[in-house]
Amino acid sequence: MTESLGDWRRTHYSRQVKPDMNSQKVTLMGWIHEIRDLGGIIFLLLRDRDGVTQITAPSKKVSPKLLEEIRKLRKESVVAVKGSVQESGKAPGGVEIIPEEIKLLNQSQQPLPLDPTEKVRAEIDTRLDSRFLDLRKHSVNSIFKIKSRMLHSVRLFLEEQEFIEINTPKLVASATEGGTELFPITYFEREAFLGQSPQLYKQMMMATSLDKVYEIAPIFRAEEHDTLRHLNEAISIDVEVAFADQDDVMILLEEMVANAIKDVKKSCSEELETIGVELEVPKTPFPRLQYSDVVDLVNAQGVNLRYGEDLSRAAEKAMGEVMDGYYFISGWPSEIKPFYVMPNSENPEISHAFDLMYRDLEISSGAMRVHLHDLLVDRIKSKGLNPDSFNRYLAAFQFGMPPHAGWGLGAERFTMCLTSAKNVRETVLFPRDRRRLTP
Ligand code: ATP
Ligand code: MG
Repeated sequence: MTESLGDWRRTHYSRQVKPDMNSQKVTLMGWIHEIRDLGGIIFLLLRDRDGVTQITAPSKKVSPKLLEEIRKLRKESVVAVKGSVQESGKAPGGVEIIPEEIKLLNQSQQPLPLDPTEKVRAEIDTRLDSRFLDLRKHSVNSIFKIKSRMLHSVRLFLEEQEFIEINTPKLVASATEGGTELFPITYFEREAFLGQSPQLYKQMMMATSLDKVYEIAPIFRAEEHDTLRHLNEAISIDVEVAFADQDDVMILLEEMVANAIKDVKKSCSEELETIGVELEVPKTPFPRLQYSDVVDLVNAQGVNLRYGEDLSRAAEKAMGEVMDGYYFISGWPSEIKPFYVMPNSENPEISHAFDLMYRDLEISSGAMRVHLHDLLVDRIKSKGLNPDSFNRYLAAFQFGMPPHAGWGLGAERFTMCLTSAKNVRETVLFPRDRRRLTP
């Protein structure tokens, strides 16, 4: 083992070693995926970021000292290999490396708590306990490369439209929506909470000259239930636009989503192949359904949903049976939407809120907001909340607040759509759920 890399540096990743590089000298670095010692020949599989390369050590071509060193290597140890490329019909990728020198950079203990070779399937809890090993699997780390690319393309899309990235506080004094889904914390001698949404802050931005903003940041929700779609810490892609209504931000959202899918399909073809997903770029505009039609559709599927109720899990599933791709649900009853959602002026029972769904999964909620101070106070009261606790927020509505609209898109839920993950935990490096706070 060694404390220093010396003059050893990687020249290629596995995927970059091609048959047409015959006899070229290369240095690869990675983990021992597998060792097969057949006596006269040793096969060593070296895994790195996104590929596996076969290192072939025949006793006829390799020195006995090097063979001895190779025999001492253990699975998942970290090594650097110098050798020459050889075209090979039998090796994965059509190439193998004949080693000249091997440097053991760090030894791995045995036995391993988790097998990163994907030969044995492990339960999600076992995998999450040893997440660093789990993430050596290409099928697992592909999800995070896709998530990273999605976030990149979202940023690019918004920046190109001159959105300004903001950072709002995550330590807050009161609840956004007065809900119970909050984590209380101790803030010196006071009680405070972890922010459940940047909602009130991004709305306050609409009264500044930063009137087209986005934030990509954690939201904290003390959801008690343990589902495949809920996390207690998630990443929200939030947008708020002044001088805009719900239709404007619905168009923005569907264009951004379609653009991100197109970009991921193009830039992450290898990752998508690794996880066996064929992405389809959805056509815009997405279908727009009315809440009242959704109630009928759900009931027609034999699932009981009364007008005025939020979609139950059974109702979402019933919708997933009828709707295949992305679609909006608009025309929600004001009653079941938060106070900051603008009621329809002709029929205040109905709101200007919308949800973006993918099959049976809600991925975004948005709305035109209430920008009129007195109406906002009434709405706060009608939800049983005390307007006094919203003083600083309400002030922004007294001195020139433009009409505005926005939405929040869950980064993990969207990643589920991109990767066909069935469990939201697959899309978070270190998920926080009802039972899990480590690692
Ligand atoms: P749901 O009804 O599915 O619990 P919600 O309506 O409570 O979601 P919103 O407050 O509308 O969620 O948040 C906007 C978006 O943020 C959601 O559409 C979703 O994509 C994401 N999101 C919200 N809560 C969570 C969570 N607990 N875990 C993962 N993503 C979440
Ligand atoms: Mg919602």
